Amino acid sequence: MKIGFIGLGNMGGGMAANLVKAGHEVRAFDLSADALERAKDCGCAVFTSVREAVEGADAVVSMLPNGAIVEQVYTADVIGHAPTTALLIDCSTIDVATARRVEEAARGAGYAMVDAPVSGGIAAANAGTLTFMAGGEAADFTRAEPILAAMGKAVIHAGASGAGQAAKICNNMILGATMIATCEAFNLAEKLGLDLQTFFDISSKASGQSWSMTAYCPVPGVGPQSPADGGYQGGFAAALMLKDLKLALEAAASAGAKVPMGARAEELYEAYVGAGSGGTDFSGIIRSLDDLAR
Ligand code: NAD
Repeated sequence: MKIGFIGLGNMGGGMAANLVKAGHEVRAFDLSADALERAKDCGCAVFTSVREAVEGADAVVSMLPNGAIVEQVYTADVIGHAPTTALLIDCSTIDVATARRVEEAARGAGYAMVDAPVSGGIAAANAGTLTFMAGGEAADFTRAEPILAAMGKAVIHAGASGAGQAAKICNNMILGATMIATCEAFNLAEKLGLDLQTFFDISSKASGQSWSMTAYCPVPGVGPQSPADGGYQGGFAAALMLKDLKLALEAAASAGAKVPMGARAEELYEAYVGAGSGGTDFSGIIRSLDDLAR
């Protein structure tokens, strides 16, 4: 297929490369010359505007920083410029309301569109092992599935338009809260004189178990290899966790849902990022919980 790919940053770069590997003709555009150069090295054809990249495309995939940019790119340069037969797939993490608004605009102009945010970080984007959660009509999901499967290990239909974004922020609200809970439990265990590896061995097989503990333990040298073992560099940036928690709180406010744990997690990540740690992995919050909670 001919696929227009917009946004070739940390995530999009690897995703576009995997589409090339799967045999697709990828027509790439990014505002960054460096990102375009890397895309070219991976076998993408590069263009100097969104409009050129989506010309004649069978599908358009985007991986952009936020909702305002997604809305701008689609309404100004994709809708009305890609063929109406092109399937539009936005993989960015954005707010549910914007996702639904953009999809409505696309549908109004005769396009099929799905929101398909991802779980998994840069390593999974490069390895083609992302998990996609997609929102949209069943027939449109069926069309998107093989394209997404070339970039991931799991592709799940979450429901109607916007449902992919809803699933993503609910999932990441759990992740933010369980990471903090796991961090504070390890800090307390240490102060109570427990050996941290022993505590891991117990809790990872007991009811305190969670993904934050068993797959991503925030303590260096304990549990599987994780960003904690590399000084909290790389991994999932705390600034992105904060972004997702803000999206969750926004959605909760508009849906009238009470999310006190999500709200507290957002406050603590806001303070952590505000202290200059936004670029480090989100599990690094373990180092400053005492200060942040003061
Ligand atoms: P990034 O900042 O590395 O990449 C975004 C790219 O979009 C950049 O290369 C930027 O130049 C480009 N861009 C911005 N405005 C543009 C425009 N108008 N036209 C064309 N290109 C434009 O970000 P990322 O880490 O790749 O994240 C992308 C999305 O994926 C975000 O929504 C993020 O929340 C989500 N996400 C990221 C991760 C992660 O671990 N990094 C994990 C899951 C989901």
